[in-house]
Amino acid sequence: MELALHGKKLLVTGGSRGIGRGIVLAAARAGADVVTCHQKDSDAVDSLAAALKETPGDHHVLRADVGDTAEVDRLLGEVKDRFGRLDGVVNNAGVISHIPFAELPAEEWSRIIDTNLTAAYRVIQQALPLLGTGSSVVNIGSRGAAAGIPLRAHYTAAKAAMTGLTRSLAKELGPRGIRVNVVAPGVIETEAFDAMPADRAAGLRATYAQKTALARLGTVGELAGPVLFLLSDASAYITGETLNVDGGI
Ligand code: NDP
Repeated sequence: MELALHGKKLLVTGGSRGIGRGIVLAAARAGADVVTCHQKDSDAVDSLAAALKETPGDHHVLRADVGDTAEVDRLLGEVKDRFGRLDGVVNNAGVISHIPFAELPAEEWSRIIDTNLTAAYRVIQQALPLLGTGSSVVNIGSRGAAAGIPLRAHYTAAKAAMTGLTRSLAKELGPRGIRVNVVAPGVIETEAFDAMPADRAAGLRATYAQKTALARLGTVGELAGPVLFLLSDASAYITGETLNVDGGI
């Protein structure tokens, strides 16, 4: 199913790799104009910029750390200068680490909460003046937030809080015609799997696959589709929801 986003102006955080890259490219191919950001300069940024040149529309790949309030302010200033308005925001940028709770340093707790949760507060608040009636915010959560995952208490705490933020904002911003939803991925196969030793990647694939009804991991494209649906007018009466995209975990 193809979802039309013609003429929509979107901001997607963390678009240089993985799920964010998939969302940016799918949205551009569906006719949207997209600004995306990344924290680090890398070959992935050049690769995304090259791929975007093959799509129609007006796209911009900018460096901005969503963990830094001043950089988010600057990012939204650039969005305003280039687009003048926003029809959609995807809070996708995220970081993860695996640490036993008993050994979790306070700095690491704060880093994970900041990038996975507080960044969404910064981005949505700064985007609000640009978001009009019919616009849509999609927060990328995690299926693990509801299920719980050992060694990731900090990460799942941040992702679970994203649901409360989403539901409250859906009620607060609904009268202005702004929808707010969560997409909660299960295990999606990104470049992170390519970076692992082959036997570890195969082991992880097998372990996660057996937990899903579809007996496999998800792809970046299969995650982008539901995000595009929530950004599009096809979902105009859906807000405050969490859409699990997890192969039936
Ligand atoms: P990746 O690590 O592959 O990509 C993360 C992206 O976010 C990169 O583009 C990275 O760019 C960017 N990013 C990270 N920190 C910052 C920051 N401070 N400022 C700006 N950009 C930043 O992650 P995934 O694609 O796997 O995950 C994307 C989202 O989906 C995350 O929110 C994650 O928690 C969630 N998720 C993923 C799952 C999966 O199976 N992959 C499962 C459940 C949820 P750079 O490093 O260049 O800064």
